[in-house]
Amino acid sequence: MTTKRTRQRTETAQEYYERMREVAQRDGLIVVGTGHTKDGRRVYAVPSRTEKNRWHLVVVAHGALECDCTAAKFGRYCRHRAAVRDRMEAEASATREQRAALSNSPKPRDDTRVFSVFK
Ligand SMILES: [Zn+2]
Repeated sequence: MTTKRTRQRTETAQEYYERMREVAQRDGLIVVGTGHTKDGRRVYAVPSRTEKNRWHLVVVAHGALECDCTAAKFGRYCRHRAAVRDRMEAEASATREQRAALSNSPKPRDDTRVFSVFK
């Protein structure tokens, strides 16, 4: 869904997303694997809730998430993408923390003290 929506419909989508996220958390639907497509797009694997040994692949494409499940085929927002969204938010905040840690710790060339690794 990349088309623009009115404000009212955006809020509805947001509510729907929240509901899907609750379902995903309740059922323990989490990202169990990540990788890249041949053309370099990020892929996340989320277990199917109904089928054993089945994973849905969520691809980050065109600034959105694309899932291969039935719900997504019919244009509905699915719990797999909700799970991936959670994961991406966690990754984004981890990156922010890493950047903060980097900028708060001295670079090796800034540190002129002699130190030993054998302490
Ligand atoms: Zn899905």
